[in-house]
Amino acid sequence: MFKILLLSTSVGSLGSGQGGGVELTVQNLAQELCRRGHHIKVVAPAGSWLNGVEVITIGGNLQVPVQTQSRDMPIYMPDNGVLANMWEYARQVQLEYDLVVNFAFDWLPFYLTPFFETTIAHFISMGSMTTASDRIMEQVIDQYPGTFGVYTKSQADTFSFGDECEILSSAIDIALYEFNNAPQDCLAWLGRIAPEKALEDAVAAINITDTPLKIFGKIQDEEYWQKICRDFPDAPIEYQGFLDTKKLQKELGQCRGLLMTPRWIEAFGNVAIEALACGVPIIAYRRGGPAEIVQHDRTGFLVEPDSITGLVEAIKQINKLDRAACRRQAESEYSLEALGDRFEAWFQKLVINDHKIQNLTIQS
Ligand code: UDP
Repeated sequence: MFKILLLSTSVGSLGSGQGGGVELTVQNLAQELCRRGHHIKVVAPAGSWLNGVEVITIGGNLQVPVQTQSRDMPIYMPDNGVLANMWEYARQVQLEYDLVVNFAFDWLPFYLTPFFETTIAHFISMGSMTTASDRIMEQVIDQYPGTFGVYTKSQADTFSFGDECEILSSAIDIALYEFNNAPQDCLAWLGRIAPEKALEDAVAAINITDTPLKIFGKIQDEEYWQKICRDFPDAPIEYQGFLDTKKLQKELGQCRGLLMTPRWIEAFGNVAIEALACGVPIIAYRRGGPAEIVQHDRTGFLVEPDSITGLVEAIKQINKLDRAACRRQAESEYSLEALGDRFEAWFQKLVINDHKIQNLTIQS
């Protein structure tokens, strides 16, 4: 059994939605590792909460999400930053743990890696974003091979060191999601409302087919959302707010399909496996994580990226898909047990290698 300290994203508190899918990954991984008897603590910004896992909350100003910045932006560090405060805490307690795991996509934890005595594993939750973060990651993986994990191969391929990453995929607690075989005549769009997610494409498509669209998620960019409302004043859309998993899965299950229209290379797309678990097929652009998840013609349709016409054609055929097949795919490929096996095997390698290094140092 290992003692592991997980450091969450510092762009928002756990449960706020600001951190996107990585919040769910931290929850699910921590819960599954605890169930297996590991000693787990999670460090996260003030206001965070997790189901059944101990969280140490730390104050300070939130980090700005890196995807809102341009490629050549310098590193951003706010005064009294929560990221720096969380890593100061980790520095103080590190010797009580076998492993520290970083979930923040920020420069600082990579930079700090050589200064820590306890091994740091980095779970990278997005594709390549800025030159400065790419560079520090390249330096760290060079010095500490095997310490990077990612969601998918498409995501890994955005980095020069992609082949050296552990592909860990994602998972959900299937028991929390109810299968619904009697949907209403509407579609869903789900996620952070921000430009990289290109909600406008989904709205443009349903505006043509005149299919009601329910939108769930955190409005991360208010101006962007207002522009969509202005550009499509008569589209049959309904904003439902940011819902917790219990409410979300109930509402999502009532939809005929999920539209996923990200403009960027989506690292995974946790909303896809949540939809599958409810029996909801997916219409997604053939790019990034969703293209690795959706089984074309079986659990969804993969459409030419950025093609509204492609979305429209797929929407017309959504009823052909078997909702039970969607649920089965979620059960067989995205269980918490499978996620726990993959992470445990990765951590085992890191902790054992680390002990080898320590023994060698003592002997010499
Ligand atoms: N989400 C939620 N409630 C909502 C809408 C979204 O809890 O009303 C969560 C959803 O469950 C998922 C996350 O937001 O875990 C979005 O993650 P995803 O991996 O799809 O995209 P990211 O935001 O990480 O780019």
